[in-house]
Amino acid sequence: AIANIGVVGLAAMGSNLARNLARHGNTVALYNRHYDRTEKLMSEHGNDGKFIPSKTIQEFVASLAKPRTAIIMVKAGAATDAVIEELADAMEPGDIIVDGGNSYFMDTIRREKDIRARGLHYVGCGVSGGEEGALNGPSLMPGGTEESWKTLGPILKSIAAVAEGEPCVTHIGENGAGHFVKMVHNGIEYSDMQLIAESYDLMRRGLGMSPVEIGDMFEEWNKTELNSYLIEITSEVLHQVDKKTGKPLVDVIVDQAGMKGTGTWTVQTALSLGVPVTGIAEAVFSRGLSGQEAQRAEADKVGLAGPDTAMNLSAEERKAFIEDIRHALYASKIVAYAQGFDEINAGAKEYGWKIDQAAVARIWRGGCIIRAQFLNVVSDAFESGQADVSLLLAPYFKEAIEQAEESWRRVVAQASLKGLPVPAFASSLSYYDGLRSKRLPAALIQGQRDLFGAHTYGRVDAPGAFHTLWAEPGRPEIEA
Ligand code: NDP
Repeated sequence: AIANIGVVGLAAMGSNLARNLARHGNTVALYNRHYDRTEKLMSEHGNDGKFIPSKTIQEFVASLAKPRTAIIMVKAGAATDAVIEELADAMEPGDIIVDGGNSYFMDTIRREKDIRARGLHYVGCGVSGGEEGALNGPSLMPGGTEESWKTLGPILKSIAAVAEGEPCVTHIGENGAGHFVKMVHNGIEYSDMQLIAESYDLMRRGLGMSPVEIGDMFEEWNKTELNSYLIEITSEVLHQVDKKTGKPLVDVIVDQAGMKGTGTWTVQTALSLGVPVTGIAEAVFSRGLSGQEAQRAEADKVGLAGPDTAMNLSAEERKAFIEDIRHALYASKIVAYAQGFDEINAGAKEYGWKIDQAAVARIWRGGCIIRAQFLNVVSDAFESGQADVSLLLAPYFKEAIEQAEESWRRVVAQASLKGLPVPAFASSLSYYDGLRSKRLPAALIQGQRDLFGAHTYGRVDAPGAFHTLWAEPGRPEIEA
């Protein structure tokens, strides 16, 4: 038998992806470094469709129809490099190697260049939706050449999630574009999660609500423009009771958020591109602070000064403040997406990709962790060209923020007065205010830079670079 697609690496992600492929009529070649994983997949799920298991990579490659197409789903980093090498050695020009792992996009750019020089296609493909998505329909973000997309497109479309009748996959752009967009997706995911966590904290410590009450609130919010997978699962987490203690599960979970690095990459990349992704950065830093175990313990022991976090509101005021939080969450979320898309735009410019922002928003509507109804309006805004400069300037979002603005300010102000940390809310609001400021204090910074380093500055009334002969200590002032 001949397979039209193969999967290398049959741990959680690879085996689920292979099953998804088989269930959609593909004949799937299988290979894993240790054969027991392959055997396990065959014995437990061999009936999902047509599989061709192999014990060696050579056998695996021989079982593929030309152009041979293989998706690698192994540990990111050195393991991926090793498997690429093995595959490239066994394959022939015209064949396609797909990396479906969470690879760093610069690695993908490097690998694509190497593999292309050997006459093969290399496609870095972002896969979002976790294990469940891999099995039942992920959001897929492939990069690579147009030519490889011709072969790969129909296969990926057969397994992707479907949103409003459309498969959640599009050819993002050449070489590392797919992994770049997947990276930013993860960054946005970080900020979505942080904003939800801040909302929870305000209701918990500020308003004294129980996890179940807050879970009910998120369930309500899920019927509004906030409707999304992350809001939905937040409600589920908050309703969960710990079997061992009978307490809300959230109260027995250690309050240190883990991370695997894609959020950090998003921020590092944004820094080098000069794009202010403040919402995403605060989300990454907040996880960082949560993990500073020793400092936090010591601060708790010493007892750093601050007000009591309880807001002591009347029932009516409480209701109003909950609405304020909902508005603040929506406004901050819009900012985080605007910033994420700014980063995609800047990346596209820097690396020469043509990325269709509207198409990116569309493929995030299903399958992935940040899937949300709101992405429909995001994609419309890009489609119509109204978000060309910034998502925040598209009329729909401009108006949405106008409606949320006062609430947003009240939330940040109250949180600050009550000593409740809201880094993502606050930084998003500051970004918004920075963006709408006709004049920023950056003029002063330019003055400082010119004084201490003769870095020069531009003038509002004339083109060119100017330098002032600043007075030196002990010398008389000199006219500019
Ligand atoms: P792991 O990241 O745990 O990797 C395990 C797989 O890698 C096994 O098949 C293992 O083979 C193989 N492997 C490890 N080292 C080597 C090596 N040197 N040579 C050959 N094969 C090797 O598996 P996951 O399924 O969790 O993830 C796979 C990829 O998908 C990763 O890049 C991950 O970042 C990405 N991803 C994961 C998501 C998730 O939710 N888990 C979501 C989206 C992407 P063996 O059995 O022989 O040890």
